[in-house]
Amino acid sequence: MKFIQRIVLLLAFMLAACQTTNVTVYESPTPSATSTSPKVSTPTFTLSPEPTLTPSVTPTSTVTPTETPRPDVAPTLPYTDVHFILHGDRNKPYVALTFDLCQKPELPSWFDKRIVDVLNEYDAPATFFMGGDWMRTHVDETLLLASNPNFELGNHSWSHPDLPGLSAEVISSEIVNTQNLLYKLTGRQSTLFRLPAGKYDDLTLGLIAWHGLYTIQWDVETGDPDPTIDAERMNWAVRERVQNGSIIVMHANGRGWHTAEALPQMIEYLREQGYTLVTVSQLLGLEPIPDN
Ligand SMILES: [Zn+2]
Repeated sequence: MKFIQRIVLLLAFMLAACQTTNVTVYESPTPSATSTSPKVSTPTFTLSPEPTLTPSVTPTSTVTPTETPRPDVAPTLPYTDVHFILHGDRNKPYVALTFDLCQKPELPSWFDKRIVDVLNEYDAPATFFMGGDWMRTHVDETLLLASNPNFELGNHSWSHPDLPGLSAEVISSEIVNTQNLLYKLTGRQSTLFRLPAGKYDDLTLGLIAWHGLYTIQWDVETGDPDPTIDAERMNWAVRERVQNGSIIVMHANGRGWHTAEALPQMIEYLREQGYTLVTVSQLLGLEPIPDN
């Protein structure tokens, strides 16, 4: 009975989300070529009761648990309107550095700890979008990030698929299983979701909102997954594009090839220009900005 009520609620919500005009969409100056229109239409889908996507390997960790084990399932967040965010307030001098931790199960990635070292050296806040499969294979690194109060942790799907075209059940599993592992490992719950490769469709945006998360894109791309883009070119991209409210996208999974090298100059430049670095939730006014 509970499940049927949830389906009815979900369908009602999707209908409302698709018909309402209060979808938060900041216009991007340079829309991604891979993106489709955020304009929503009424989707038709059904959810089956049990998500079937589960980690194929049990997480392993060298960290000795000192707390009471948390439940495997994170508390459910209340659903929200669709929020499709490309940047924050253009009238306030805040900028968010964001780092994606992407990993497909068939394509393992790593962790560039030098990025954390630089952020710590400069006492710089940042937001890390965690892949579920990445957390599964990087438990110690997940705990390291979670232990830093300067860092916000977001959800970057479980297995980094292209979400458009997948079923509601699979998309929900990608979101929920990642929420659950983040909660299980760290006790934290993310309210932010970053789309794999920034790709979306109506159903994906509706489901992210249904699960209580904001969709966080970006307006400054550094190009760091391209090994030929060196630190100087990354910083040039930031200097050219950054403005009030900017969200800068980079990678900390070892495939941001020159990211750690570029960061000191980037942070120094942004602060010299009068920007304050904040987490994404602080940028959006969802959390207060601490006094410094
Ligand atoms: Zn990614």
